[in-house]
Amino acid sequence: MTEFTEKILSIIGKEIFQYAETETSSLIFSEEVVKMCRQNLCGNYNKTWTCPPNVGDLETLKGRCLAYKYAFIFTTVHNIVDSFDIEGMFNGRKEHDAVENKILPLIKETGAMILGAGGCNICEKCAFPEPCRFPDKAKTSMEACGMDVVELSRKLNINYVNGQNTVTYFSAVFFNR
Ligand code: SF4
Repeated sequence: MTEFTEKILSIIGKEIFQYAETETSSLIFSEEVVKMCRQNLCGNYNKTWTCPPNVGDLETLKGRCLAYKYAFIFTTVHNIVDSFDIEGMFNGRKEHDAVENKILPLIKETGAMILGAGGCNICEKCAFPEPCRFPDKAKTSMEACGMDVVELSRKLNINYVNGQNTVTYFSAVFFNR
């Protein structure tokens, strides 16, 4: 385990559900994931700066991830009433974001990078197509960069789902040491 991962765990270890450290060379990027974004099931396609197609092309985004040697993948799990509980999912996302926020200072000071869960939710409504209000804080998701999170979770033995009436959120931190 790298020193960086140990530092992350010392900050959020008690709040995350599962995690794995891997070399970025083993990550899977797929045009198929971006194609799913184009189906716009989440409603964010072409609506924010951090979602396709405005976030950039797959090769550029993949290159940004592969510029780092390691990735630390982690999940948080949240209870919801049922699969229609949008408010519960929203609250779970807020809790996941709060966990992410605790490691942002470490990420900033070490030049690491984080890809979060879902589209950027810093602003209530994204400024797109006007310029991003907070380019230093705007968050891109793993899927928006073409990462196949389902396959990755299998490979790393991290549960993609954690049972009925729960929602699981993923994040990935990229770093070099
Ligand atoms: S910070 Fe605001 S304007 Fe920028 S991408 Fe996120 S939601 Fe959009």
